[in-house]
Amino acid sequence: MKQTARTSTATASPACAGLPARTVFAEREQDALPALRACRRCLVRRWCEETVAPAASWFDGVSAGRLWRNGRPVTLRLPQEGQEGGEA
Ligand code: SF4
Repeated sequence: MKQTARTSTATASPACAGLPARTVFAEREQDALPALRACRRCLVRRWCEETVAPAASWFDGVSAGRLWRNGRPVTLRLPQEGQEGGEA
């Protein structure tokens, strides 16, 4: 059977699986960092954003590599791993 993006998404696990809810649904950037890091290696990012629909649901928390508050992406202020100025 030919592997499609849809079938691979259906079999992939969210990289944030196992993280505590207070991290995935964090409102503060500092608390959300483990989930934001997980998003970087997550194979279901597109599915995550389509499913959560942050703007439509006024979502608070992490989805698809962004921290959302009231459905709007939060501008991150802390240095992120792998970015200039960040710590490894
Ligand atoms: S993209 Fe979504 S499912 Fe994947 S790690 Fe981030 S919050 Fe979790």
